[in-house]
Amino acid sequence: MFDHDNELALLKRALDVLDEGFAHLPQHQAGVDVEAAWPVLEQLARCMRDNYPYFHPQYAGQMLKPPHPVARIAYALALWINPNNHALDGGRASSALEKECVSALGAMFGWDHPLGHLTGGGTMANMEALWVSGRLRPGKKILASDQAHYTHGRISEVLQLPFSAVAADASGRMDLEDLERQLGHGDVGTVVVTLGTTGLGTVDPLADILAMQQRHDFRIHVDAAYGGYFVLCDGLGEEARRHFDSMHQVDSIVIDPHKHGLQPYGCGCVLFRDREVARIYLHESPYTYYSSDELHLGEISLECSRAGAAATALWATQQLLPMARGGRFAGDLDRCLAAATELYRLLAQSSQFHPLYQPELDILVYAVAADDTRDASQRAARLFDRAAENELHLALIDLPTSLVHDRLGDMEINSETVTCLRSVLMKSEQVDWTRRIFELLCRCADAG
Ligand SMILES: *Cc1c(COP(=O)(O)O)cnc(C)c1O
Repeated sequence: MFDHDNELALLKRALDVLDEGFAHLPQHQAGVDVEAAWPVLEQLARCMRDNYPYFHPQYAGQMLKPPHPVARIAYALALWINPNNHALDGGRASSALEKECVSALGAMFGWDHPLGHLTGGGTMANMEALWVSGRLRPGKKILASDQAHYTHGRISEVLQLPFSAVAADASGRMDLEDLERQLGHGDVGTVVVTLGTTGLGTVDPLADILAMQQRHDFRIHVDAAYGGYFVLCDGLGEEARRHFDSMHQVDSIVIDPHKHGLQPYGCGCVLFRDREVARIYLHESPYTYYSSDELHLGEISLECSRAGAAATALWATQQLLPMARGGRFAGDLDRCLAAATELYRLLAQSSQFHPLYQPELDILVYAVAADDTRDASQRAARLFDRAAENELHLALIDLPTSLVHDRLGDMEINSETVTCLRSVLMKSEQVDWTRRIFELLCRCADAG
C-alpha cells in the first residue's frame, strides 16, 4: 500500500545533506535506544490500524486527503531541527520558506503582496480574520450562511461579536434576498462568504455579494478553507468560475493547505489584502525578537509557537507541483471535479439514489430512494454500515427537509431532517474508481 522503501531512501539522503551542514560542531550524538523503542512503536503501529483507510480510493467519505509523499518527507526532515515559525530565532530557514509559500498562495488569488501566514488550521485562520474584522468594525455583526462552517458562530462568540446566520437558498448557497434584508439593518461589519461549503460543497455568490458593497458598507471575508485551490481548475461551472474570479476584491481569505493542498494536518493560512492590518497585531513581547529587524511571523499572528515543519512541507510541495492553471496540481483537482460529476451522473440515472445537487466542486450528497424521508434516513444509515463492511467508506449528513424537499423525487416528507450519504472525492485517482464505487453502492442498496 505504501512506497516505504523509496520514501525512506529519499528521507535518508536528505537527512545526510542536512547533517553535513552541522558537521563542524563538536561531536555530540543523541541516539535512540532501539531495544526500548521497538515494543512501543510496534504497539503503536498495530493501534494505528484502527483507522479508515483514508489514503485509499475506496475511502469516499469525509474531507480527508493523504499528504503528498514529498510533503511527508519534507515534514519528517524538518523534525530533526524542529523549527518554530513564531520567530526568526526559532526558525530562520523555515520562516523564509513560509513567506514564499504565503506569497504563492496570495498570487493564486490575484494578490501581489498580501499580509498573511500559516496557521494550525482553518479554524484558527478564520478566527484571526474575524478578529481583525472585529477590530476594524467594533461591535458590528458577523454574518455567514447557515451552510457555512459551524465554527464561525462559535468564533464570533469567543470574539464577543454578534453573529447571525443568513438562510441558504434551494441550491445550498447564501440567499441574496435574506442577505440584503439583514444588511439593511445597518449593523453588519463583515459577511463571511464560503467558496466551497464543508457539507454540500456549494459556492456562495461572491460576485453578487461584492456588488452589494455599493449599497451597504461591510467587509468581506472569504472562507475557502476547503474550496480555495479550485480557483485553478478549468472544469469549474460558469457560476462558480465567476465567483472564484472575484476573490481578489475581498478583504481576507482563508485556505487550508491541509485540505486540498496535499499537506499533513497543521497547515491553514490566512491572507489579508491590505498589509496595513499588521498594525492591529502590534504588541510588545519582552523576549522574542532580537535576531533581526525583519518582520517575524509571530508579530503578525495570534498563535505563538507553530510547526516550522508545516512550512517546509508546503514549500516542497509547491516547488514540485506549482499552483498554476493548466499545471499538474490543477489537473489533479480537475480530476476530482470529474470524479464527482461522473458519480453524480451514475447516481442520477439509477433508481436507488437521489443525488441532491449537481456538484460544484468535488462533494456529492445523495439520498437513498425510499417511500418517505424517515425510511430514507434509516436506509442511508444501514447502507453506510454495509458499505464499510465491504471496504467502501462513506460519510453521513443530516439535512433539513425544508432545504432539500424538492430534490427527493416523490418521497413523502415525514421528518424534520433527512440523513443522506456524502462522498468527498478529493483523491484524483478516484476518477478511475467511480464505476466501482457506484457498483458497490448499488449492491449495498440492493441488500436493503
Ligand atoms: C474545514 C473547514 C474549516 C475548519 O478548518 P480546520 O482546518 O478544520 O480548522 C472552516 N471552514 C471551512 C469551509 C472548512 O471546510
